[in-house]
Amino acid sequence: MRFNDLELPLKGSCHCGLVQFQVNTSLKDLRRCNCSICSRKGFVMGSAPVDLLKIISGQKFISTYQWNTNIAEHYFCKICGINTHHKRRSNPNEYGYNIACIEGFKMSWIENAPYVDNTKMSLVNSNKDKFKK
Ligand SMILES: [Zn+2]
Repeated sequence: MRFNDLELPLKGSCHCGLVQFQVNTSLKDLRRCNCSICSRKGFVMGSAPVDLLKIISGQKFISTYQWNTNIAEHYFCKICGINTHHKRRSNPNEYGYNIACIEGFKMSWIENAPYVDNTKMSLVNSNKDKFKK
């Protein structure tokens, strides 16, 4: 892995390029998550304190998806649909970001990004059972 060869700040963008962001901390704590939304998104995340990830351009193209507790905020480009980053429910002072959006990063550098087991994060006080007969 050559994560530390990337110069700071890391530069990231969505697919169409309208949303540009910078991360002013090195790639670390890479992980996947198996909560109900991350398992569907499927990307490997880096982590950054919220003050170290800045949107450089395209703020108006960012949409936010929230659900259940409405603590986590999942951001995506409303033009190309790529999820760039999210504010974590487990730690709202941190962003997780999509490392595949980082300029110069090669997915082949990842040999194994561990799963964080967040299945318990998926639903709180689910109403699902109410509708079962
Ligand atoms: Zn886009």
